Amino acid sequence: MTATGKIGFIGLGIMGKPMARNLMKANYQLIVYDINRAPVEELAKEGAALAASPREAASEATLVITMLPNSPHVREVLLGKNGVIHGAKPGTTVIDMSSIAPLVSREMEAALREKGVAMLDAPVSGGEPGAVAGTLSIMVGGDRELFQRYRDILGRMGKSVVHVGPIGSGNVAKLSNQIIVALNIAAVSEALLLAEKAGVSPRVVYEAIRGGLAGSNVLDAKAPMMIERRFAPGFKIDLHAKDLGNVLETSRQLNVPLPLTALAMEILQSLQASGLGSEDHSAIVKFYEKMAGIEVGEE
Ligand code: NAD
Repeated sequence: MTATGKIGFIGLGIMGKPMARNLMKANYQLIVYDINRAPVEELAKEGAALAASPREAASEATLVITMLPNSPHVREVLLGKNGVIHGAKPGTTVIDMSSIAPLVSREMEAALREKGVAMLDAPVSGGEPGAVAGTLSIMVGGDRELFQRYRDILGRMGKSVVHVGPIGSGNVAKLSNQIIVALNIAAVSEALLLAEKAGVSPRVVYEAIRGGLAGSNVLDAKAPMMIERRFAPGFKIDLHAKDLGNVLETSRQLNVPLPLTALAMEILQSLQASGLGSEDHSAIVKFYEKMAGIEVGEE
């Protein structure tokens, strides 16, 4: 056992369920909630307590972790009618690990603080494999001492746990990450399509350039998927569109023009409109292929 009281865990989807399991493996006692009963019952069989609402989960816990799709879901779970704010005792901490708009994190931290409840934003990268293995990269925003207090618990879910700055900073780091990844995939798509049309093997071009300045984790992860026509996710177009939506909402509020990100958002929306929202974001190449009337592929 540990010195910490019960941990409320809300949101047991692709990411949340394995993250909750890793905490249970480290002997933390969990009380769990999700609007979907299946993962809740699965974790109950493994020893977690069940809550009937976020409010109930918070009333039994000293720490509440949320792992939900987007800002409106987190707002509902934390501040809604049966939300955490109505059950949490003063001195409770909320760690929101969802990828959401940073300004919404700030707004919720302020509302919780009025009730004596502290909050960190701690979005992750590393996908489902990282969530299962406990090797996520976790970017944390909020009070530094609070971060230090929960660092070990976060370390059960991630191998890199970095304090980025005040509340909302974790999500700023995550959104920055998502801009770079989206634009990089679009650049890889344009380059491979040009090679294809010029009659030069995209595979050989990839091998020729990957050791130079154009080399990147994105190039190594996504170019082979495009060439081999493997578009199963991975990270879905729908989720990337959600993240770039949050980037653009934030950039508008801060008055920062991001022209290339705005264009990438249009590309993602076009792919969603063509029914490709559940494909991996490497399917960005299909947007270009449709315009050029040619496919990137093996000889
Ligand atoms: P998911 O859709 O699989 O899981 C979300 C869970 O939240 C679901 O179980 C859903 O039932 C639950 N939920 C929704 N509304 C709720 C509510 N009001 N009350 C209680 N539960 C509710 O999503 P995921 O892939 O686990 O992603 C979670 C977050 O992590 C997202 O913000 C996503 O962008 C981010 N993320 C995902 C990945 C990935 O590869 N999947 C990688 C990094 C970050």
